Amino acid sequence: MIDLKGKTAIVTGASRGIGKAIAEKLFEAGATVILIARNEEKLKQLSEKLNNSPYYPLDITDREKVVQTFKEIQKDYTIDILVNNAGITKDNILMMMKEEEIDSVIDTNLKSVFFITKQVLRKMLKQRSGRIINITSIIGLMGNPGQSNYAASKAGIIGFTKSLAKEIGSRNITVNAIAPGFIETDMTKDLPEENRKAMLETIPLKRTGTPEDIANAVLFLASDLASYITGTVLNVSGGMYI
Ligand code: NAP
Repeated sequence: MIDLKGKTAIVTGASRGIGKAIAEKLFEAGATVILIARNEEKLKQLSEKLNNSPYYPLDITDREKVVQTFKEIQKDYTIDILVNNAGITKDNILMMMKEEEIDSVIDTNLKSVFFITKQVLRKMLKQRSGRIINITSIIGLMGNPGQSNYAASKAGIIGFTKSLAKEIGSRNITVNAIAPGFIETDMTKDLPEENRKAMLETIPLKRTGTPEDIANAVLFLASDLASYITGTVLNVSGGMYI
């Protein structure tokens, strides 16, 4: 069994969906888990479920507040594992896509990963250990019509992951990405039934993924079992992208 006792993890986007499942999984493995998202009520509920885990309501695009919050967190905690999970979609065909739809998706999904990682990096470098796990998407690998903004943000995460892995590997910090396929969460719940059926046809394992499928992959990458893995993109899509 994977044991993360004594480790502290931060999970962004922990209020629901994949991030919530990741937080629960790391907590079950014994880690102290710090929960971050905007929705304070949902964070509070999860915190209560996870033995009063620390939580910080935070909009990850609010740079000043991010700096302040991470300073506060690191007064009390030494971060061993960072999971950059928070993300949004604002789908549109490019001809109709507004600048706001480009900016908000790039800002939330990609720029925040740079910025939040920077906040924990100095201490990880000093500790000479750490795990950084970025949630990208198979859309960043394969593209998708109507999601050029999202695909670009997720492809950006992959380039970031590989570059940082090379930059800080000598300090015993691993940096990896996980590329989920179609996972049942709020993000995917509004897909029309016929599109869902067509999409299922493209998945060799013939089912959609669960948040727990992704949480299992995070647990593995956060564990000692993955200590020689860095700069990789773990595809967790039931074969939807091969
Ligand atoms: P979700 O259910 O919509 O949850 C998104 C999470 O991100 C929420 O906890 C949300 O919390 C948080 N978030 C969004 N904007 C934020 C901001 N500005 N500041 C702080 N937190 C923010 O989506 P999900 O499906 O769990 O997605 C999680 C990650 O997996 C995303 O990066 C997504 O791109 C990726 N992914 C999902 C799928 C899928 O099929 N579902 C597939 C591939 C990749 P608040 O609203 O409380 O702030």
